[in-house]
Amino acid sequence: RAKEQGKNNFQMYKPSMNVRVKQRLSLESKLRQALSADQFILHYQPKVSLKSGQVVGVEALLRWKSEQGKLVEPSTFIPLAEETGLIVPIGEWVLHTACVHSRELLLAGLPSLRVAVNISARQFRPKTLMHLIGKALSASGLDPGSLELELTESLVMQNPEDAIRVLRELKAMGLRLAIDDFGTGYSSLSYLQRFPVDHLKIDQSFVRDIGADPNDAIIARAVISLGHSLGMSVIAEGVSNSQQLSFLRENGCDEMQGYLFSHPVPIEELRTLLADRRSLALH
Ligand code: C2E
Ligand code: MG
Ligand code: MG
Ligand code: MG
Repeated sequence: RAKEQGKNNFQMYKPSMNVRVKQRLSLESKLRQALSADQFILHYQPKVSLKSGQVVGVEALLRWKSEQGKLVEPSTFIPLAEETGLIVPIGEWVLHTACVHSRELLLAGLPSLRVAVNISARQFRPKTLMHLIGKALSASGLDPGSLELELTESLVMQNPEDAIRVLRELKAMGLRLAIDDFGTGYSSLSYLQRFPVDHLKIDQSFVRDIGADPNDAIIARAVISLGHSLGMSVIAEGVSNSQQLSFLRENGCDEMQGYLFSHPVPIEELRTLLADRRSLALH
């Protein structure tokens, strides 16, 4: 239809473009309000040791409780929050809240855990980031060694020389660092070796088909041995069945996260899970 109208075809797109722009603007203003209206919450997903079956850490995952009370997943709003820069104040809230929660768990007598927070490119500016981390740690009284940052492979590989400098500063503060979604970006191995990173997280796309797709099994095994030879411990994401679990254990993977053990859960549920000393059945 647009073709028939020849030169005037741009008019055809105008109304739908308007709708998209309006939707974006409305999502953006709702996101702005969400922060002041206290509509964000954190869920926590346990990280479990494959040696002991015990919970050794948790990852904070952001959720947005919309006005209708429905929980909105990060994939629908994080990209826009990144584009608009709103991820910076939102990320500040995440850092603060995760540190406070984790200190509270400790004070409640629960075993000490690492708490991991996801960091986007927009937040990965040395001065702001160090400042926010410093604030979150002093406000909560959490030990820096208990805070872990997850940075995606594509983020750190975007500008590896700069990333190395920032990562070194973060290590100097005593934090732990993890490379997230490993295997989905394009890593230069010479850089990977220079990143002062503690953990490598195998992306869930390789874990999903470990049992069915021999290529995925090969990649998972290669990532485990690569991580180990660089002195990193390796975490598998998205572990949802026992076949994946046995493969990972047989191949020396250090930790797992996934629905098989627990979905990301609200802090109250996490507290119960930890108080019950719930552990992963290993045989
Ligand atoms: P991610 O950091 O790689 O987090 C892992 C995602 O996998 C989470 O999705 C988690 O709920 C999901 N997951 C965990 N176990 C399983 C499983 O067994 N099967 C399947 N299919 N999925 C599993 P979620 O919570 O929707 O988060 C998606 C992404 O959003 C995260 O990926 C992270 O990149 C980003 N994100 C989440 N919270 C934050 C945040 O506070 N700040 C920033 N900057 N990004 C965040
Ligand atoms: Mg993550
Ligand atoms: Mg990931
Ligand atoms: Mg991801």
